[in-house]
Amino acid sequence: MIKLESITKSFLLGKESVHVLNGISLDIEAGEFVAIMGPSGSGKSTLMNIIGCLDKPTEGEYYLGGENVSHYHDKELARVRNQSIGFVFQQFHLLPRLTALKNVELPMIYAGISKKERQARAEAALLKVGLGDRMDHLPNALSGGQKQRVAIARSIVNKPKLILADEPTGALDSKTSTDIMEQFRELNSEGVTVIVVTHESEVAEYANRTIMVRDGLLQPPAVMERGRLR
Ligand code: ATP
Ligand code: MG
Repeated sequence: MIKLESITKSFLLGKESVHVLNGISLDIEAGEFVAIMGPSGSGKSTLMNIIGCLDKPTEGEYYLGGENVSHYHDKELARVRNQSIGFVFQQFHLLPRLTALKNVELPMIYAGISKKERQARAEAALLKVGLGDRMDHLPNALSGGQKQRVAIARSIVNKPKLILADEPTGALDSKTSTDIMEQFRELNSEGVTVIVVTHESEVAEYANRTIMVRDGLLQPPAVMERGRLR
């Protein structure tokens, strides 16, 4: 489903070019549950932004579902995002003035879905994450875990094949983290490919594979197995 070939990413800071990803090659099959770990600043979010078509690689090729998206313009990337990818972030990214239901409807507005269907699908998604009784609440009236459930509901309304979660439990206590990870486990069991960035080994345990990023490179599995990385 995902194939990265020698991906690099550099940012221009003034006159200097900062090399953040230094040649990442990676295959992820449909239906996998992958954790990405590594030190702060190692390039995990930068990698997720490329996988999520939020940013483009500087060099290298990226195939998503067989489609080479590496050289797509912003508009084409937005289409791919809306059609195929759900996003969950550490800080939930809910709009504070919109109810849970309206927040979940947002991606469907961008996808041009009718009002009636939007509402029906948003309700179904909120029921699925156990928030049937919180649909009309504003984000401020929800706990952290409930906010993240709203974000998960929002991420699934366009029926994505891929969900990307960048530290989805980073702002939650450990019990709430477990609840949230169970939600991802269930989605994965239904066939959705899930990629989660995390600093917590308890979270990584939900994945069937853990990838380590260090200094913009993937650590070879053999090194990881010997437990040298911490
Ligand atoms: P953390 O665990 O703290 O979230 P991370 O592994 O997600 O870290 P990234 O956010 O990918 O790290 O950042 C990697 C490096 O790239 C950092 O040194 C960061 O300062 C740099 N970087 C990221 N985005 C930009 C940008 N837009 N412009 C310049 N430098 C950037
Ligand atoms: Mg990050």
